[in-house]
Amino acid sequence: MCGFISIFGPPESNAIHDVLSGLLAIQHRGQDAAGVVTFKDKFQAKKGLGLVREVFQDKHIQRLHGPLAVGHVRYPTVGLGDRADVQPFWLDYPVGIAMAHNGNVTNFHELKRTYFGQRNIHLGSNCDLEVVLYVFADALMRRLNNPITVDDVKVAVNEVFTRVKGAYSVVGITSEGMYAFRDPYGIKPIIFGKKVTPAGTFYAVASESVVLDVSGYEVVRNLKAGEMLWIGKDRVPHFVQVGQKPHRPCIFEYIYFSRPDSFLDNTSVYEARMELGRRLGREFHARGLQADVVIPVPESAKTAGQTMAEVLNLPCREGFVKNRYVGRTFIMPNDKARQDSIRAKLNPIRAEFEGKNVIILDDSIVRGNTSRQIVKIARQMGAKKVFLASYSPPLLFPCLYGIDMSTKREFVARGRTNEEIAKELGADYVLYQTIEEMVDAVRTAGNRDLEFCKACFEGVYPTGDITESMISDIEQDRLAAGTGIA
Ligand code: AMP
Repeated sequence: MCGFISIFGPPESNAIHDVLSGLLAIQHRGQDAAGVVTFKDKFQAKKGLGLVREVFQDKHIQRLHGPLAVGHVRYPTVGLGDRADVQPFWLDYPVGIAMAHNGNVTNFHELKRTYFGQRNIHLGSNCDLEVVLYVFADALMRRLNNPITVDDVKVAVNEVFTRVKGAYSVVGITSEGMYAFRDPYGIKPIIFGKKVTPAGTFYAVASESVVLDVSGYEVVRNLKAGEMLWIGKDRVPHFVQVGQKPHRPCIFEYIYFSRPDSFLDNTSVYEARMELGRRLGREFHARGLQADVVIPVPESAKTAGQTMAEVLNLPCREGFVKNRYVGRTFIMPNDKARQDSIRAKLNPIRAEFEGKNVIILDDSIVRGNTSRQIVKIARQMGAKKVFLASYSPPLLFPCLYGIDMSTKREFVARGRTNEEIAKELGADYVLYQTIEEMVDAVRTAGNRDLEFCKACFEGVYPTGDITESMISDIEQDRLAAGTGIA
């Protein structure tokens, strides 16, 4: 899962400032690397490993001028995490084009072997964006139009949809304009907005609405599944429906990945999490369980913790204080490092545990490392009973569309009953949300008609083309990357 933003400002403007504020607003979507490419007479780029504020200094901002820009924060899915894999990518020849994406190409290895291998083209990175860029650029080049027309972009997007499988939202710039497209099933989010200033109109495309908010853009609308946008020399947004598949946005965006102050597909992430908390609270009550306090694991479970406590008529307390400078435990090299850093990251407040029956609420349980540690800490702090609650259902299947999760082998819920999971994690009781309640809760927060991709919970992959060899290719990549994310 990554984050992106692309901007097309008025002719004399510089888009870089809005791009950097936008990237800071979605730093949670990737802390591994950041990059920006701008265009004015030529492409200028700055990319590096680390956080946005570490990669960009004043001297880069001076150099990255021009009204056209695309920026990216990376959370590695495919790729070994090298510099060569840092996005955006760009080509000066045969067509000037820069591109960034969020998602995962499921037939990346197959394309490397066939489409590229047979033409003797060797990719320069391990990043799946490179295949999207070449397929797109190749199709554009064959049209040889100057300036590029909306039909040219449509043909190129269609070529990508035909050849490239998986989930990908893509944004980018050419020397003349800005383009964006959302994969045929619309699994990854992508939103379009604009800002009218005395100097002219700025257009922006981003992965979450919060990016638009922070720089004063108004939301125009989300791109639809399989839809593309092109804004060329005429500076008029042209939307074209290219793909014709059912829309299946990722439900995990609402559970964990997006910021609570974002709206995705007209659905508030905050409202969704509030409703998820309420429903789990009602279920806790319906089972005749009794507790003294709700303690959400910061940060993602805080919203749902409030509402779970409300329906149970219990206090919601900050039992863990998070040190936000430790970084994500998920991205540590091995289990031992991850467990140590969970302790460094979440320090308990004894008074909230001592002598109490506590509900510890998290957004999800993946390998169980976080839960195992926090249950242990709760007991060390004198908790009487520990109820472990997850406002999403048990995670059981790998995500092939870009959310880094365990390989099948590592999911703690796989092949275990709830009693066995509780035992494994040291809790007295484990309570999960059901799939039906989760879906209904997210729908009540906005778009009632949404059908989601929930492959990680039920193993049904909406693109319908996932093979065992794709799963094993992706698992091998993640293991080889040594990030422990697999
Ligand atoms: P685990 O310790 O392996 O059970 O992971 C669960 C914790 O990781 C939860 O606290 C989640 O907030 C967080 N989490 C869930 N999914 C992801 C993800 N794809 N990337 C990073 N963290 C995640």
